[in-house]
Amino acid sequence: MTVDPEVRAVLTGGKPSVPAVLERFQAWLAEHADRLERFRELPTEPDRMVGTLMELQRLLYEAGWIRLGWPEEVGGLGGAVAVRGVVSEELAAAGYPPPFSFATQEVLGPAVARFAPPQLAAQVLPRLLRGEETWCQGFSEPDAGSDLGSLRMRAVDEGDHWRVNGEKVWTSWAQYADRCLLLARTGTPESAHRGITAMFVDMNTPGITVRPLVAMTGEADFCSLFFDDVLVPKDRTLGEVGGGWAVAMFVLSCERGVAAWQRQAWMRWRLERLVAEAPELADARAGEAFELVHALRLLSRRTLRSLSDGRSLGVLPSFDKLLMSTAEKYLFDAALEALPNTLLFGADGPARDWRSDYLYSRAASIYGGAAEIQRNIIAERVLGLPRE
Ligand SMILES: Cc1cc2nc3c(=O)[nH]c(=O)nc-3n(C[C@H](O)[C@H](O)[C@H](O)COP(=O)(O)OP(=O)(O)OC[C@H]3O[C@@H](n4cnc5c(N)ncnc54)[C@H](O)[C@@H]3O)c2cc1C
Repeated sequence: MTVDPEVRAVLTGGKPSVPAVLERFQAWLAEHADRLERFRELPTEPDRMVGTLMELQRLLYEAGWIRLGWPEEVGGLGGAVAVRGVVSEELAAAGYPPPFSFATQEVLGPAVARFAPPQLAAQVLPRLLRGEETWCQGFSEPDAGSDLGSLRMRAVDEGDHWRVNGEKVWTSWAQYADRCLLLARTGTPESAHRGITAMFVDMNTPGITVRPLVAMTGEADFCSLFFDDVLVPKDRTLGEVGGGWAVAMFVLSCERGVAAWQRQAWMRWRLERLVAEAPELADARAGEAFELVHALRLLSRRTLRSLSDGRSLGVLPSFDKLLMSTAEKYLFDAALEALPNTLLFGADGPARDWRSDYLYSRAASIYGGAAEIQRNIIAERVLGLPRE
């Protein structure tokens, strides 16, 4: 595969640094502006939208940009994790959408790189990075969301495979997924978080039914998954048997890393669009939105740097998640106030985007750890307040 000369230039002389990647990637974007133009406005029909975003991903992979910051063993070109934040940020700043698997890549990719058998990671990660397949996160169940440790999906040991039965819900974009990072109970029903095992399941395995759920955005943003005697080979186990909680916690920490950085970059870009498109936006509203988004950026930078250096911040990233949902809701509340006709009734692409982003922002305080849970963590583990 030919790596673009701009990428090759950041690799000469050792591992790429954030400033070097930034400078070269900006130059590459400017140079390829004509080729990238068609990605600025996406088709509205979901299948075509996903297809177009996968094409963008392939283009960035083939040039080498998406391979930076990933280990060579899984198809990467090496360098610190933090350099991965540059590509998403600069894409957003230049007005391009995030490729379809960007978030998955950052949320689930590192867990597969760390916990999957090396041969499996080397096989599937390049395919994800290249936009050849997509993955989904099968954690939540109808009675196990915030209280994930009570999940009931059962995986029974049958020698060289697991037999899996049960139900998952709110699995984002599972209708497009080729694989699923699944949590299932392999211990006794009372084993709580100690009896859970993580596994990497092919979505075309017989016995899996995917039922899309239409959200208030009007799109099937997520799905219910039904597992009926699904056989998962043992070599698809991620980490230790009974060690699924460590995998789940690692995934959650990644949600606060490059994935959160991508989200704040996208919010910054949306705020800039709002200021440009809504002269009625009150200065105080714009100022407060800017403060929230900028504060999020600072927290997110601290977390990203620490994850990139392999240091843990413990429970501190709970502040990031809480601020992220506050900032996102505030931003789109401001959009509704300043662009009411466009947001509520507009029929063109940008109006639909404002409407859909406003509606999706309501979910920001639920997914990836609800706001109340983050407040509990901060109250108990940072401020030392009593549990009750
Ligand atoms: C847009 C979206 C995408 C999602 N994508 C995925 C996905 O891809 N994969 C996946 O596995 N899951 C996904 N989820 C599910 C998400 O992780 C759960 O919705 C979340 O964990 C909350 O769980 P729950 O919905 O069961 O609500 P519950 O846990 O039942 O909570 C209901 C309410 O009670 C509050 N609450 C619960 N426990 C406490 C407590 N101890 N103290 C105070 N308040 C409490 C919560 O904060 C919330 O307000 C997604 C959700 C959304 C909205």
